[in-house]
Amino acid sequence: MTASSRCDVVIVGAGLAGLRAAQILSHHDLEVVVVERADHVGGRVHSFDVDGFIVDEGFQLINPGYPELVATGVLASLDLRSIPGLLTFVGSREEWTFADPRRWPLRALTSLRRGRLATTDAARLARLLATARWSSTTRLTRVPDRSTRQGFRDLGLREGTIDDVIVPFLQGTLLDSELETSWRYTRLLLKSFAKGRPGTPSNGARQLPLSLVADAPRVTYRLNEAVREVGAGFVRTDHGEIRARATLVAADQSEAAKLLSGRDHGWRATTTWWFDTPRVASGERLRLDVDRRVVASMLDVASVAPERAPRGRSLIAVAVNGEHDARLDDEMAQDVGRFYDVARGDVTLIARTTVARALPKLMPPLDLRGPSRRGSVFVAGDYLQTPSIQGALVSGRRAAHAIRKSLVTADVV
Ligand SMILES: Cc1cc2nc3c(=O)[nH]c(=O)nc-3n(C[C@H](O)[C@H](O)[C@H](O)COP(=O)(O)OP(=O)(O)OC[C@H]3O[C@@H](n4cnc5c(N)ncnc54)[C@H](O)[C@@H]3O)c2cc1C
Repeated sequence: MTASSRCDVVIVGAGLAGLRAAQILSHHDLEVVVVERADHVGGRVHSFDVDGFIVDEGFQLINPGYPELVATGVLASLDLRSIPGLLTFVGSREEWTFADPRRWPLRALTSLRRGRLATTDAARLARLLATARWSSTTRLTRVPDRSTRQGFRDLGLREGTIDDVIVPFLQGTLLDSELETSWRYTRLLLKSFAKGRPGTPSNGARQLPLSLVADAPRVTYRLNEAVREVGAGFVRTDHGEIRARATLVAADQSEAAKLLSGRDHGWRATTTWWFDTPRVASGERLRLDVDRRVVASMLDVASVAPERAPRGRSLIAVAVNGEHDARLDDEMAQDVGRFYDVARGDVTLIARTTVARALPKLMPPLDLRGPSRRGSVFVAGDYLQTPSIQGALVSGRRAAHAIRKSLVTADVV
């Protein structure tokens, strides 16, 4: 590619939104160039290798119940290992495991009786999940929007249930311990939980972007190249100009705001500690902390996907909301020792991944019908839909269809 080059569509950003758009456009025989400032595709979905372990850049699960993930056609190539549906709520004085009623109906009943959930609240939650499971996206987002906490209050749930069960359950996914996030979005999230069991690819989360790339044969990727300016039919990078019939900005909300003078709604951050231990028992259960609100979730990734650790070892991910540094390393290692019954000396830190810009804040009201275009430039990114893999993929698909439509009517440069 020379200092000035031409193609049909130039895409800024090789995150899931940009890659999904590139996949669709390439299937329609369009020549696509994706320009990415990082040294890898995938954006916020990234993994790396450390001494025989495959570590994700932040603990992240992929839900095969996301309809747009199914629509990409790459689900089978992910070799996704689902977690079994056992949630262990861990407190300093007690521990109880909630079993997924779809797999273990009897065990689920017993676990409810032992847990902190009152029968009336359990019935309300079951009804909410059933509604979410069987309702369309349109119906689930038609309710007046409010905070997620208010949504659960309006269902009649006690504050104790919200604090002891709902917050530990949702805070690791929403990265929001206060439950300020849009209630409409939480209803959509519950739908995806009710439809699929989240998991992790045997090759790490990176397998998702890699599979999208493998299914988009006519696309050129220019890595390590930051876009400085965009406009109708061109982008300017440090290496020159790329001219195109259409321009798509699929950068995250902050970078898109800089390139297009848009709004930035702020971010939710997360830190994950990755520990090496001898292989632990029951590591495949997702452990949720009910006492101290700092630890959102813990999972032995190697119990779910053994390929991700050397034989006989565990790879324990401890995810905590917010940005943290080495000062918490020892406390987290002690927690792992305590929760998994491993001597402190056998718990070794492999990596700590802090992601300051993990999820764009989604305060109510959620509107899924936003435009895929700002002036003469098309836009995609999770911040335009929902802060999730599903949201990023949908936004990429919507932008790709808008671009195709425009190219057919030739109203872009
Ligand atoms: C730690 C963590 C855990 C998560 N957990 C889950 C989960 O369990 N389930 C779930 O559904 N979702 C989860 N998510 C959210 C999900 O990963 C994101 O919503 C999704 O990946 C966002 O994709 P995107 O394409 O919109 O944005 P991004 O991935 O941010 O992609 C934007 C790309 O644009 C590039 N870029 C920006 N500016 C420029 C420029 N000027 N020039 C060139 N390139 C540029 C960036 O480098 C980046 O590659 C998690 C995210 C994180 C970080």
